[in-house]
This record gives sequence, structure tokens and C-alpha cells, in this order.
Amino acid sequence: MSRASTRLLRHINVTPSLRQVRPISSSSVTSASITSNTITDKPPPPPQEFTYGAYQKVGGPSAKPVHTIRIPKFESLEAERAFRKLHHAAALRWLGYNGYNNEGAGGHVTVRDPILTDHYWINPHGKSFSHMRPEDLVLVSKGGEVKEGGNMHSINPAGHIIHSAVHEARPDVVAAVHCHSVPSKAFSAMGFYNDHSIYEGFGGIAFKADEGVHIAQALGNTKGVILQNHGHLTVAKTVDGAAFLFGAMDRCIQAQLLADAACAGRGTSTIKIAHEEAEYTRNTYNDEMVYIMFQSAFEDVVRASNGEFPMHVQGEIPRE
Ligand SMILES: [Zn+2]
Repeated sequence: MSRASTRLLRHINVTPSLRQVRPISSSSVTSASITSNTITDKPPPPPQEFTYGAYQKVGGPSAKPVHTIRIPKFESLEAERAFRKLHHAAALRWLGYNGYNNEGAGGHVTVRDPILTDHYWINPHGKSFSHMRPEDLVLVSKGGEVKEGGNMHSINPAGHIIHSAVHEARPDVVAAVHCHSVPSKAFSAMGFYNDHSIYEGFGGIAFKADEGVHIAQALGNTKGVILQNHGHLTVAKTVDGAAFLFGAMDRCIQAQLLADAACAGRGTSTIKIAHEEAEYTRNTYNDEMVYIMFQSAFEDVVRASNGEFPMHVQGEIPRE
């Protein structure tokens, strides 16, 4: 544990505030606080399986069954691919509606293909997020080649460099969302992010392969990373979850900037959430929970599409 004692494990907690679980060194860790991470020289690989939420039935054994929203199962990998592409396009539209398509060709969302698992889908370079359709998405190989089967359209080279490194470093991750937001730029520029997963080595637009590797290293085992003076990036096992985390993180950053500014003006300080509560909340936001949190936004996108987008794809099987 001696070398491990210098290793800092960083966790990101994006709700209900950006209060970050503190970096944990082996000397300060208690057994109760080690949940998903065991302190070793090398962090364990993230779990491949989804962690589904446990629904607590209320009303006793005689209560009638109620409809629940859960990550579905699929009749085939083709159905799962169609599902991922529909939700990918919907997540991009939602990001566009919320002003994240605000720097021209900047911003990219990638989703791993369920059949060609070393390939990913990405938004076409320079196209509006708000009008994205599943058939607009581009299929890209591990080496960055645009492949037939998807839209034969160019992609953002920086998008490939960042996202391919993240997908390679995190086999558990299905989707990654990265856009530029004014609050995250402002927050990260303040340089007090010792408790957060943050990438400080912004080397201009990410055209060098090692930039992507460094960002993936900074992300580590967490749900999100702040790219200093740049923006932020979130990952999840669904594109819905990654989009939810992206928006949640941005709102937390905005809230904290406002609270910190107000406190500075009044000479007071913000009230911090205790480590235990932050850790409990972080663990509550499992893979299924972050998926569920996005489904009202998905419904908004589907309804706004006036019949262009379905709520479900063929071969989607609801989970009980
Ligand atoms: Zn960027």
C-alpha cells in the first residue's frame, strides 16, 4: 500500500451539487467508504455489466403493477444498434436545444457499436445537433476511418482523438459526450479543482493522439472530466446517461459559480455536503438511474419531432 498511499482516487458526484467526493488516499480510507474502487496500485477495471436500479414497490403485496421506465433488453444486436442510434440522435438534438452546439463544429457525442465493438458512431462534422437523425450518424473504426454502413461524411478529427482514446481506455463505457460550455470553462479556469477529475494539460485543439490518451487518463474511472479552459466530457453505459450527466454537471457548475460568487460578495461560505452523503448520492446514480433521468428529455425530443422519431425501436423488449 505504500505506493498506493500516494495515489489519489477521484470520484465525480454530479448531483445534487458538484460537491466532489474528496480524493481518497489509502491512509484516509475506511472500509465503509470503499465501494466501487478498491485501493490498489492499479484501479480495477470498471464493471462491464449494467448496474440496474432496484425498484421498491410501495403499497404492499396487493398493489397493482405499475409501468416503470428501465433500460430495455433487445431481441437482437441489430435492434440494439437501432436503439443506440435513435437515442444518440435524440441526445444530440437535446444538446442542440440546450445551446451546446454553440461553437460551430465543436462538440461531439460518440456511441460504441454493439456489433463492431471497436467501432463507434459520431455526429457528422459541422452539422446541426438540433436536426440530427439516426441516418446522419457516422460509423468510425478504431483507426479513425469512416466506414460504410453509416453516413459517409467527414468527422471532427479532435473528436476522434479524444473519444477513441476514451472508448479504448474504458471498455465499460458505451457513450461519451463532450461539448464546450461557458460555465465549465469559467469554473475550470479558476484552478481549484483538486477534488475533481480534471485535465489540466489543454494543448490547443486536440489534433495530437496523445492529447486523447491524456484526457482518458485524467478521466480514469470516473463519470466525467473537466478539461481546463475548454469544456467537459462525461461517459456512461448509455448515451442517455452520458447526456444526462453532461447537463447535470453543467448545471451544478453554474450553481456553484453563482453560490461562490454570492458568498464572496457577502463574506460567507457555501454549506458543503458531508462525504458520506455525497458518496451515498454518487452510488445511487447507477447506470440505470442516469438512463432514467434522461427519459423525460428523450420524450421531449420524440414529441418535438412530430412523428419523425419513434419512442421505441423494433425489437426493444421492456424490462419488468
Ligand atoms: Zn472540445
